[in-house]
Amino acid sequence: MKYYDKLIFELSKPGRCGYSLPTALRGCQTRRESKESPAVWREAPLDLPEVSEPDVVRHYTNLSQMNFGVDTGFYPLGSCTMKYNPKINEEIVSPFNGIHPLQPAETVKGVQAVYDFMDKALAEITGMKHFTFLPCAGAHGELTGLMLMREYHMSRGDLARTKVIVPDSAHGTNPASAAVCGLDIVVVKSKENGLVDVEDLKPLLGPDIAGIMMTNPNTLGLFERDIKEIAALVHECGGLLYYDGANMNPLLGMVRPGDMGFDIMHLNLHKTFSTPHGGGGPGSGPVGVAERIVPFLDIPRTSGFHGNFGIILRACAYILMLGRENLKLAGKYATLSANYIKESLKDCYKLPIPGVCKHEFVFDGLLDGGDVTTLDVAKRLLDYGFHAPTIYFPLLFHQAIMIEPTETESLETLDAFIEVMRVIAKEAAEDPESLHTAPHNTPIGRPDETTAARQPVLKYSRS
Ligand SMILES: *Cc1c(COP(=O)(O)O)cnc(C)c1O
Repeated sequence: MKYYDKLIFELSKPGRCGYSLPTALRGCQTRRESKESPAVWREAPLDLPEVSEPDVVRHYTNLSQMNFGVDTGFYPLGSCTMKYNPKINEEIVSPFNGIHPLQPAETVKGVQAVYDFMDKALAEITGMKHFTFLPCAGAHGELTGLMLMREYHMSRGDLARTKVIVPDSAHGTNPASAAVCGLDIVVVKSKENGLVDVEDLKPLLGPDIAGIMMTNPNTLGLFERDIKEIAALVHECGGLLYYDGANMNPLLGMVRPGDMGFDIMHLNLHKTFSTPHGGGGPGSGPVGVAERIVPFLDIPRTSGFHGNFGIILRACAYILMLGRENLKLAGKYATLSANYIKESLKDCYKLPIPGVCKHEFVFDGLLDGGDVTTLDVAKRLLDYGFHAPTIYFPLLFHQAIMIEPTETESLETLDAFIEVMRVIAKEAAEDPESLHTAPHNTPIGRPDETTAARQPVLKYSRS
């Protein structure tokens, strides 16, 4: 344990102080002088660590370095699109931090102009008619979209449509959102090649189907080639098509969900459009709809207090910075990067679905891994300074390693990652124990993941 791994309370020494003020100013806010009512007076002094300024600075700086972020290293987390967040975006939003949440709308016309622009830009990118900026995450967008779907059917007196079809390769939030919306979930299977099985879909369609939720390219990074036929079949039975556009990255400027036949969709601005994410926020999952769904959108189309404006503006800056042609390039480079890694590693890692992928792809563990698991590989990557890919998802493969490099990584970074993945494959053959016990040099190694997620200890208790 390094000295500064100690908690700040453990560094505390009674009487030590991190500032120097004229005596006259010290402790001026004593109880007796306080204007607050005695009822709110503190019973005992606030229990704060007594440390010097360098101790405080080191404490926070060291804490910040115990985390891994896209600013500290390569983060190939599949289905998450951890692309670099341009720093110019932060500069652009900073003057807007001064907007008061309760400021009247007529004094923040510029904010409205940005929303209007984004409505138009996203509509053009996706082929939808209008967007609502109410939802603050992808899953929030899914729920919003499904509620719109339900409203649409109910407005037509079509009350029997209580089921929503979800492919078995879907992101877990899809069935979860459908369940929260009170819809029943029907699973449609994928074929060997990872695409939705149209023959399996046909018998599921009927007057009880509210719609289908699809991700395209799907979570295996594969483009659903039969999408036109699927759209026709679902529409024919009276259902709607929901597009999970969390990972729209590879399609930017190439193909539009609206043209594929989708009626409702969400985008994750915090994935596709370079705004920061992780740790549950801040996100933005705007929902776009085709013309016939527009009447069901809530007014206003932003959440309270000007909505999640900082994120919308960052995405706006990203779109304007790239422009039409470069937006298209972003998707192409993301696709190229994913295929480059896939092809460079398929002699060491099992590639269950060969062929060209889009922005991401899935390995099914090591080719000759012995008893070395995907978890071991992921943990060992941390020792080499890379974030682990998404593992054990999608559920179609038992040892899934889902890699998504994005367009913002250089060829050198991709090569470094490939080299490390090859080193790990070699270690698996020669020294499997070093993988079973990895990581060896991170602040924590292998916490019980269920306990860490369900019963996190986030508070330091001094007693
Ligand atoms: C990330 C993701 C979601 C959920 O988005 P959140 O903002 O995390 O709620 C939904 N679908 C897909 C395909 C995703 O990758």
